[in-house]
Amino acid sequence: MNRFFLSVFFLFFSLQLKGFEILPETVTIYSHHKEIAIPHLPKPLVILDPGHGGTDEGAKVRRFLEKQITLKTCFLAKRHLESLGYKVILTRSKDTYLSLAQRVVIGNRRRPSIFISVHFNASISPSARGIEIFYHNSKDKSRTLFSKKLANCILFELCDQTTAHSRGVKQGKFQVIRDTQVPSILVEGGFLTNIEERNLLKTNQYLNKIAKGIAQGVEKYLKS
Ligand SMILES: [Zn+2]
Repeated sequence: MNRFFLSVFFLFFSLQLKGFEILPETVTIYSHHKEIAIPHLPKPLVILDPGHGGTDEGAKVRRFLEKQITLKTCFLAKRHLESLGYKVILTRSKDTYLSLAQRVVIGNRRRPSIFISVHFNASISPSARGIEIFYHNSKDKSRTLFSKKLANCILFELCDQTTAHSRGVKQGKFQVIRDTQVPSILVEGGFLTNIEERNLLKTNQYLNKIAKGIAQGVEKYLKS
């Protein structure tokens, strides 16, 4: 290997070590009027979508708001996923309003490996409890299959971490999982209207269990 090629490789690996995203499939380096295409090293990108935000508070029980715990959970999940080596983008990182269409645009523009929307539930029945995950039955059969597999992996890990009741994996037509182009799911992590679950959801410790379950489910899905 001559000195020129060695310097190209060193440049490539130093960019990787510094956390630069090497996208898309190849990196073209122009030097001495030559073009060299270097293979892309895969680094899965996960988009986490904290439900609601800003004027859209989501479910609420007195001053306990869904929009606050979706954001907290996504920040915690981001930390777990990054420690496993994934790149993570949140559709919102503050208490701001984002339309469903804007969330879809973020998901489709960044072309992640997977898209996960995080929500919490409410019901008129105070006894309703547990975790459920939705995927969309789209015309793209392979996307449907992968979304369902992702939902099963994450539900298993979530229930393992939290010991919460499993309400199962279900089909849904929510815009964020319907209009995104990659395997996508919507997690409903528990009921604000159930007093036991609400008390758990008020603790960072329990939200961290949910976050860890999401991260481990992603790991299980992407590595199986
Ligand atoms: Zn919601």
